[in-house]
Amino acid sequence: MKINIAIDGPSAAGKSTIARLCASLLNYSHLDTGAMYRCVGYQSKIEGIAEDDEEALAEMIQRMKIDFDAEGHVYINQEDVTSKIRDNEMSMRASNVSKLAKVRESLVALQKEIAKNKGYILDGRDIGTVVLPDAELKVFLVASVEARAKRRILEYQEKGIVFDEQEVIEDIKRRDYQDSHRENSPLKKANDAYTLDTSDMSIEEVKQWFIDKLKEMGVYH
Ligand code: C5P
Repeated sequence: MKINIAIDGPSAAGKSTIARLCASLLNYSHLDTGAMYRCVGYQSKIEGIAEDDEEALAEMIQRMKIDFDAEGHVYINQEDVTSKIRDNEMSMRASNVSKLAKVRESLVALQKEIAKNKGYILDGRDIGTVVLPDAELKVFLVASVEARAKRRILEYQEKGIVFDEQEVIEDIKRRDYQDSHRENSPLKKANDAYTLDTSDMSIEEVKQWFIDKLKEMGVYH
């Protein structure tokens, strides 16, 4: 039996990492919905569209083709933008465009279409509440700002992305605030989601938590 899994939580809580691990464990597909909002932020910059121009952004999304490959690379109209969408500027742009109802409607429709069959793991902010309200397993991942900043800095170092430590911390705090206080689909735990605080957990421990849960559900043996 295949299920769908929804992983939500604030930025840099480790959602994509665990989603990727579970996908390879179960042989499921992973969709990083944050990357889709980042693509909208990136492409709007390239096209000179203002971050609050809802109509123009919605029109742009209709013309955009966002693809992922099996290694997690992200493409806009076949251009590899994997690392280009990851810096602080693109994080903030993604958060800004994701406030707009029409942007959300378009991307949520795409996400629902992609995951209409079982066997998907989606991570984001509104997966358990809006995109996959029927997901069989919902997990709300949280971690302290300090723990998340540390992880993001490591990620930037590994990927060779230039960063300022204080800016990384400020970016996390700003996006936490903005993503939880917006009008449209704010970051919110679904009533039927498990909360997992990963501040003091290693990635192996988080993985083990998921394995135990999936075994309990009879999805992994
Ligand atoms: O997860 P990630 O940090 O890559 O997401 C970038 C931004 O996209 C978030 O700060 C959030 O504003 C937005 N987002 C969203 N809904 C999702 C996923 C991401 O609003 N499902």
